[in-house]
Amino acid sequence: MTTVVSIPGTERRGAGSRPGRRVQSIAGLAAVALIAAACGTGTGSPAASATTTSASPSATGASPSAEPSLAAWEPTGPITIVVPFAAGGPTDTVTRLVAEPMSATLGQQIIVTNVAGAGGTLAAGQVAEAQADGYTVLMHHIGMSTAPSLYPDLPYDPLTSFKTIGLVTEVPMTIVGGTEFAPNTLQELVDHLKANAATVNYANAGIGAASHLCGLLIEQAVGADVTEVEYDGTGPAMDDLLGNQVHFMCDQTTNTTTQIKAGSIKAYAITSPERSDALPDVPTTTEAGLPDVQVRVWHGLYVPAETPDDVVATLTQALQGALTDENVIAKFAELGTTPVSADQATSEAHTAKLQEQIDVWKPLLAGAGS
Ligand code: ASP
Repeated sequence: MTTVVSIPGTERRGAGSRPGRRVQSIAGLAAVALIAAACGTGTGSPAASATTTSASPSATGASPSAEPSLAAWEPTGPITIVVPFAAGGPTDTVTRLVAEPMSATLGQQIIVTNVAGAGGTLAAGQVAEAQADGYTVLMHHIGMSTAPSLYPDLPYDPLTSFKTIGLVTEVPMTIVGGTEFAPNTLQELVDHLKANAATVNYANAGIGAASHLCGLLIEQAVGADVTEVEYDGTGPAMDDLLGNQVHFMCDQTTNTTTQIKAGSIKAYAITSPERSDALPDVPTTTEAGLPDVQVRVWHGLYVPAETPDDVVATLTQALQGALTDENVIAKFAELGTTPVSADQATSEAHTAKLQEQIDVWKPLLAGAGS
């Protein structure tokens, strides 16, 4: 049984933030960024959107056969993308990077808003219930596929409560430690956990988060039971790792690459079969002795299930355009990832991935739930 403790000031979410226990208004959130439409109006006028939402496949770089040909939806006001974790973490970073070119294509502001809690399930539950008009979109990651195995009372069904827009990116995690934490290599970490598990703190973003999943795999592989410290996201968790208030965690390369390169945290291993070009000196978990710890964190965009198909198609085209944007590609590369290809940034590929991942994680997570 895993222990969960609270560190003052971390705004951790414990049992009280299980789905249904905490209700938060999307409109009332603090961490909100307005991304002005690149069309220059910033007001979302219909005229501006008529110009920019005609995003043809050639204009977006998308494969012409990637999506059914539907009449283009022309949004007439700001679109909100809900991030299910705190600002400053990797899901937030990826969302803000793609939101900017999507905003330009759609000719509307995109508001990125953080609804953190319950390992990402709080935000997913809210978007499932939101108006199905294309103005509320969810960015979520692998947690969409693990939550059904971890939350017996999940208030939504990942496959039927949403329509998928398309995949965004897929990125490995890194196992990282604070500079004052004794182990310097993955093998030393394993030995340390075997000898001192009760005294070791592991940061994660709540049950269902990728960081939680990675921690479970480490615990299973090592046979140790560490103390988990839950945060609203791995953005704030990283702050505490940098300050050595927690000992170690797993996080996407999109949140660790800069800190690893700066020597601000220790990198033990990367959770993929191959090393990352962005972090060539970091060994894989297979090389370093924990081959069963394999996690690749995929992200995708969702809208409520009743959203009309032309709205979904327009959002997919805007996503495909964003994923061919030079700035997005360059920033993703700096953070150790790449956009998915145009054929993966489709509703069909996204739904197939979601189904496949639910099936993969179900047997592995049996009994690990809340
Ligand atoms: N990386 C986090 C996770 O563990 C979430 C985040 O803050 O993006 O799932």
